[in-house]
Amino acid sequence: MYRKALSHSLSKLGFGLISKVVSTGTLKAPPSTRCRANKALIKITLAGCVVGLSACAEPPKTGAELAQSLLIIDTHIDVPYRLKLSYADVSSATNSGDFDYPRAIEGGLNAPFMSIYIPAKVDEAGGAFALADELIDGMESLAASAPDKFAIATCSDDLQNHFDNNLISLPLGMENGGPVTQSEEALRHFFNRGIRYITLAHSKSNKISDSSYDTNEAWMGLSPYGKELITRMNDLGVMIDVSHISDAAFEQVIEISKAPVIASHSSLRHYTPGFVRNMSDDMVKTLGAANGVIQINFGTNFLTEAAQIYSKQRREVVMAYIASEGLAQDNPAVKAFAEQYKKDNPYPYATIEDVLDHIDRVVALAGIDSVGIGSDYDGVGDSLPQGLKDVSTYPNLIDGLLGRGYSEADIAKVLGGNALRVWRAVEAYAASQGTAKQCRT
Ligand SMILES: [Zn+2]
Repeated sequence: MYRKALSHSLSKLGFGLISKVVSTGTLKAPPSTRCRANKALIKITLAGCVVGLSACAEPPKTGAELAQSLLIIDTHIDVPYRLKLSYADVSSATNSGDFDYPRAIEGGLNAPFMSIYIPAKVDEAGGAFALADELIDGMESLAASAPDKFAIATCSDDLQNHFDNNLISLPLGMENGGPVTQSEEALRHFFNRGIRYITLAHSKSNKISDSSYDTNEAWMGLSPYGKELITRMNDLGVMIDVSHISDAAFEQVIEISKAPVIASHSSLRHYTPGFVRNMSDDMVKTLGAANGVIQINFGTNFLTEAAQIYSKQRREVVMAYIASEGLAQDNPAVKAFAEQYKKDNPYPYATIEDVLDHIDRVVALAGIDSVGIGSDYDGVGDSLPQGLKDVSTYPNLIDGLLGRGYSEADIAKVLGGNALRVWRAVEAYAASQGTAKQCRT
């Protein structure tokens, strides 16, 4: 198992970006230490000063090197629910899934937001609050069982402190706001438990918001309760996540929220016409103008029209089979039929180039400060692009960004700087309303 055997320190830089800076002797020094004397120079440059880097004779960095030296925040990884369905010890190597500690280290991942995912049917059945507590308990036990590897992060400063201690931060995001609708105190309860963003709805419209997947737009956006919740989340310092909600709800969030918001795992509708779960160009512009950030989802269905067409056809064929055979949807024969369909008709996996196209387009629409990564690892099944199959593969994405001419400073923003900026802005607004941030370190 490869472990970062380095002692690092993080430096908060002038524009709110964290860069990992090697500060002490190392057992396994990255190639960049060949130019140790110029580290300070690089730091100064990242802070915004115009200082030529030509003095440093370093060769261009690779994706693998930058993955280890820059902060990587991925705002949506579905480990908690994966472990509920099928437990595995992700502090060691696992044979299944997209995330475990060794692979995260290999990929340079520092702060994966763990998705506390509440299926709509659990919410409708009244089990949302208990399931959220159960999934958070799972993450607390994971951190407690491997205190030399993981730690729950509940404020932006925790990321730095954890990194100083060679720990992977586990910040928590809640996917589906159902649990906080169950009582007045529920939002505070889950804030105290560490939830730092809430995706307002999931696959169905709920008591807070309409969902992009639900044709029943009961609220024409946000419910009256949902509108109030936005203000309460602002005041407490919980980021608002606009992924999954309807276009109207998104517009209303932007209108009401006093702090910038995130789309924790969404991609661009431009490349997937008709897939309203993704964001339109206008929405991306609006989000960027409000200092928010869209974190690109890696699932192929979120990336290409070919996958959208494929999935629609597969669904239709499977539904026709169910109807003709008179089977229940959960009949094992249905699953076998769908698997066979996939074998006969290979899935059109996206490539890294597709992910890069989405990033490029956000930059063109809203600027480099408006885009990040929200892979949806462990949440999109066997639909990940070639070359981005799990958390060990961020270096491939970085190589792609380098290939398209992105500077190190810009790559740092995409990998985590932008998400961190929004988190800090949300914390700062809450502080202005009298809520001090709660940290674990
Ligand atoms: Zn989702």
